[in-house]
Amino acid sequence: MAECAFCKIASGELPATKVHDDDVVVAFRDINARAPTHILIIPRKHVASLNNLSREDDAAMGHLVRVATQIAQQEGIADTGYRLVANCGNDGGQSVDHVHFHLLGGRAMTWPPG
Ligand code: 5GP
Ligand code: ZN
Repeated sequence: MAECAFCKIASGELPATKVHDDDVVVAFRDINARAPTHILIIPRKHVASLNNLSREDDAAMGHLVRVATQIAQQEGIADTGYRLVANCGNDGGQSVDHVHFHLLGGRAMTWPPG
């Protein structure tokens, strides 16, 4: 997608502080961190929201979740705990239309989310 900021980050056209980069997923620090660790993990493939995932994306999304756990280890938050969340649509609070998971940690999270 030519106008998608996260596609541009994945391709290197836009700068970001990347913490993981492979053939399938890219992870980078959120520009507006809401926790001591706040990393976004995205599939390289442009998919607008969770609602647009198809069966052919299953392997990529499984890989994405496992990469998230590896990043949690790297960031030193695996044992203290973390939250892995994806916002979908207006009520979910999604603001960028390219599937992404937030990896948040380094502080205690509250529940329910706002
Ligand atoms: P959403 O609100 O869609 O769940 O999450 C989008 C996230 O992307 C927000 O936390 C926002 O701070 C982050 N974000 C938006 N644009 C950029 C950008 O250009 N670079 C980085 N690193 N993060 C971004
Ligand atoms: Zn995109």
